[in-house]
Amino acid sequence: MTPTRTTPARRARDIGLDVRAPKARCDDRHCPFHGRLPVRGQVLEGTVVSTGMQRTAVVERTLLHYIPKFERYEKRRRRYLAHAPPCLNVPVGHRVRIAETRPLSKLVSFCIVEDLGEAAHRVRGEEPVETPVAPAAGEESP
Ligand SMILES: [Zn+2]
Repeated sequence: MTPTRTTPARRARDIGLDVRAPKARCDDRHCPFHGRLPVRGQVLEGTVVSTGMQRTAVVERTLLHYIPKFERYEKRRRRYLAHAPPCLNVPVGHRVRIAETRPLSKLVSFCIVEDLGEAAHRVRGEEPVETPVAPAAGEESP
């Protein structure tokens, strides 16, 4: 038998990332703050483009990829399916920080860990992209 908790309120766990813990609480076992889900690996930023699924959001991220031949950048984007804990309750159009987790389903291996507020631009239009990284030499040469 497990003893009853002595702490009056179950506070959010320290997930090891420098993020603000959500104010609300939830009983989702896949919530990194209130469940038992560890987060490790990549931490990315993106914009929520869909919340139609149950506790899963589509997070889109744009990045610039350097083309050495033309000395220009091309815009690339990738969509991640990320678990959306109910305590965060992020709406469509918000910037979020997602952290890598173990695979939660076939396509979900990220979890939203922070709501960064409304995005400055909608994803459908021109989204501001992160500062371009220095191109790696000889990358993707045939
Ligand atoms: Zn939670």
